[in-house]
Amino acid sequence: MSEKEQAGIEDLYADAAHWHVNTGEETIHAKRIPGRFRMYKWYTSILWLVFFIVPYFRWDDHQAILFDIPHRQFHFLSLTIWPQDVWMLSLVLILLAMTLFGVTAVAGRVWCGYFCFQTVWTDWFTWLEDKIEGNPIQRRKLDAAPWTMRKIKLKLFKHTLWLLISILTGITFAAYFTDAYDLWHSYLTLDAPLIAWVVLAAFIFFTYVFAGFMREQVCFWLCPYARIQSVMVDKDTVMPTYDVSRGEPRGKLRGKGSDERGDCIDCKLCVGVCPTGVDIREGMSEGCITCGMCIDACDSIMDKINRPRGLIRYASRKEMDGEPLPPLFKRPRVIAYSAILFLSIAGILYGLTHIPPVELSIVHERQPLFIQMSDGSIHNKYTIKAVNKTPEDLHMKVTVSGAEGISIAGDEGKNIVLKTGKIIPFHIFLTARPEALKGKRTPITFVLESLESPIIRLEYESVFISGR
Ligand code: SF4
Ligand code: SF4
Repeated sequence: MSEKEQAGIEDLYADAAHWHVNTGEETIHAKRIPGRFRMYKWYTSILWLVFFIVPYFRWDDHQAILFDIPHRQFHFLSLTIWPQDVWMLSLVLILLAMTLFGVTAVAGRVWCGYFCFQTVWTDWFTWLEDKIEGNPIQRRKLDAAPWTMRKIKLKLFKHTLWLLISILTGITFAAYFTDAYDLWHSYLTLDAPLIAWVVLAAFIFFTYVFAGFMREQVCFWLCPYARIQSVMVDKDTVMPTYDVSRGEPRGKLRGKGSDERGDCIDCKLCVGVCPTGVDIREGMSEGCITCGMCIDACDSIMDKINRPRGLIRYASRKEMDGEPLPPLFKRPRVIAYSAILFLSIAGILYGLTHIPPVELSIVHERQPLFIQMSDGSIHNKYTIKAVNKTPEDLHMKVTVSGAEGISIAGDEGKNIVLKTGKIIPFHIFLTARPEALKGKRTPITFVLESLESPIIRLEYESVFISGR
């Protein structure tokens, strides 16, 4: 090892006094070092930029993705989901849960390490902090130093940028629920409705506090997923793992007995880079978000001391015990999660391909069940409720079939207008001569046909009731 590298190792030992395991008493200032997994983390966090730009895309004459709460519709490109189709939402939730469970069974909390909004936003916030206030040691010194003009300027600059990200996050979230361009206009002209201000204020507060101040404490103490993940992982789950057999007994690189020690030189850099302040060498921890930063750190040390990389590496407990890792299709958890996942995908696809253009229900009037008119004819009253799920108003013709002698009274039903997205109930009367009826309950079929589009044709079974 060159003198320069030796000096670098001594600096690490000097820094090691600053790295300690998270006990929840203070904010962790994790050291940022370059590496393979650091790069992957950047790539995955860049995916979140999609969150910021999606609300500005248009599709036809509306926002491409819009949860239109006032009109109770969800627009996804040309697809519109109505409250009647909300059962698909439960399948989507099952799908997301099973994906998370399956990924956890295979690779631990990899979602937390690379994709979770809490860790991604925290990463952005701490990157800015690092650029503005310096490395963790400089930041701690700055925090402990008395207030000077320099400290005020640095803190002001950092908090302004954090607040700008928080504001942008809040506006972007709200933009998924209303037209994004109108929303910006209403905020800028201070004309936004109260609910929009409440959503914005909540998002600014939680983004600023969770990502700026609480950081890893959210993952450690608040996140429910951290608590339940242990039931999803097993000896086959691949996670950042310290190779005890290779690393121990740990100890300083130089000095008495160094020849008999393992590869861990106890520099504590793996603790220093850990965003949740975990010491991976102590085994699996509920605070470990599987981010791989400790792998980058330890690999950089191994490179410096000319030992093979991988003292900390992604590995399963079985691998560490020298057993082969079974293929995914032979792992019961993976099979069970995948089966539920595919069933939910099948259900969602079925739902999406079978959304009817008009949802119809027809209710027979109960009070009274029928009316006998002065000319002897019998009338039944029905309430028709139809939801027009197409983007245009529909003109429908209603007819009744299935029984001779039963017809619609008057001109009703010749041209019913179904407003797009609206449920406007309307009544219809059927009339029949008593002698044409064969019993008290005569099965009938209502037929609704669109005057604009022959493919929109609905049938609804009902009954005609008389006193005979
Ligand atoms: S595991 Fe690696 S990074 Fe951690 S203390 Fe040992 S040598 Fe240093
Ligand atoms: S122990 Fe390693 S993988 Fe786990 S959170 Fe800390 S740095 Fe990330």
